[in-house]
Amino acid sequence: MIKIRLKKCPVCHSDVKVIIDWDGGRINGKFRQFGYCSICGYHSDPKDSYEEAANTWNAQVSSGHQLPLF
Ligand SMILES: [Zn+2]
Repeated sequence: MIKIRLKKCPVCHSDVKVIIDWDGGRINGKFRQFGYCSICGYHSDPKDSYEEAANTWNAQVSSGHQLPLF
């Protein structure tokens, strides 16, 4: 699997991970994934693959778009 360098959390500047959306259940037989900061809970939208989730995270951080926290 290709590892994509994730930008740091825009809220607390911690390192983040792409995690699996266990709570969201399977969509088309697969769990979705999203960028998630375990320190403050900031996250990006769930996507179908690691690459998509990582790219979405990076784009979201770059745009400065703020999603509500958990
Ligand atoms: Zn954070």
